[in-house]
Amino acid sequence: MNDKKIEIKGLSLEELRVLFLEIDEQKFRADQVYNWMYNNLVFDPAEMLNLSKSLREKLDARFSFTSLTKVDEQYSSSTDTKKFLFKTFDNRKIESVLIPDKERNTLCISTQVGCPLDCKFCATGLMGYKRNLTPGEIVDQYLLVAKEVGKDTITNIVYMGMGEPLLNFKGTVRSLEIFTSEMNKAVSKHRITVSTAGIPPKIRELADTNLRVKLALSLHSCFEDIRSKIMPINEKYSLADNLDAIKYYLAKTKSRITFEYTMLDGINDRDEDLKGLVRLCSSMPSKINIIPFNSIKHMDPDGFSGQLESTPHERIREFADKLRSKNITVMLRDTQGDDIAAACGQLAVKAL
Ligand code: SAH
Repeated sequence: MNDKKIEIKGLSLEELRVLFLEIDEQKFRADQVYNWMYNNLVFDPAEMLNLSKSLREKLDARFSFTSLTKVDEQYSSSTDTKKFLFKTFDNRKIESVLIPDKERNTLCISTQVGCPLDCKFCATGLMGYKRNLTPGEIVDQYLLVAKEVGKDTITNIVYMGMGEPLLNFKGTVRSLEIFTSEMNKAVSKHRITVSTAGIPPKIRELADTNLRVKLALSLHSCFEDIRSKIMPINEKYSLADNLDAIKYYLAKTKSRITFEYTMLDGINDRDEDLKGLVRLCSSMPSKINIIPFNSIKHMDPDGFSGQLESTPHERIREFADKLRSKNITVMLRDTQGDDIAAACGQLAVKAL
């Protein structure tokens, strides 16, 4: 991105139309450019062949089409996931992950460089926080991966990469508007999930946008004191406040909440945790996504983070079965680490 140029990938179609009128171009020309970008994945004005040469030159001069640059790509055969490493204009690094699962291909995207929340089990949290991503940088993760793997390949988008989406509210909402816009036949809103550690005022604000995407709460414990220990943000925004906001969200969107639950040995895998989960899930339309804890030892954490261990596999199975026996919908993948959220929670880039 160049300071003087407008980042085109972060604009809604409406905004682009207004800008086109300002540069003496007709509105439908904006639609054509949008179509090139989102439906044909063409980001170089020189290749937008139904535009006049003078318009193509104007586009080049006024807009930046490069929000991110791909710098690396890693395939993990054990998890069948593909990680994409991108560089921003100010030389920050962020990651996105493509996770295949049966007939789905979910792209997990980042919303911040690092994260301010400091959840004790999270690799990104250990890196600290640098800045919010721009709407264009959020959207470009999708566009660049789609260009590489094919647009139809990506069936779902989850906001579960680096950062807290609701603390980058503007970037998150703008990118959602772009993904779900009529013109951009990307991914249906029913297949987009925003995952949050729990920011109640922003959950309500998201409900009021009427974007109606799916919401996931990183729960990890039904008990306030334990939750605060593993997720310090719970001191500011308690679980009780979050549940109120979630009820508001569900009423507005007529959907159900996904509770993400990372299994930590001796901390949230006891019998009383089971009881708490059963009580909670009976109180609202919900399902639980159980995630085996992915070790963060490679980050060399000290204190409480350094002591965390995953619940043994047998206990995870038993835990899931007991929840199911109470008629709760539980998602649990067999292989450790191939879960969507787990793969995303692993994101950490050395050189931010
Ligand atoms: N800030 C948002 C989105 C990013 S974290 C949120 O908190 O929801 C995405 C998911 O990955 C969360 O459910 C988080 O709890 C989980 N996660 C993070 N680190 C993990 C780890 N080491 N092992 C397993 N899950 C992890």
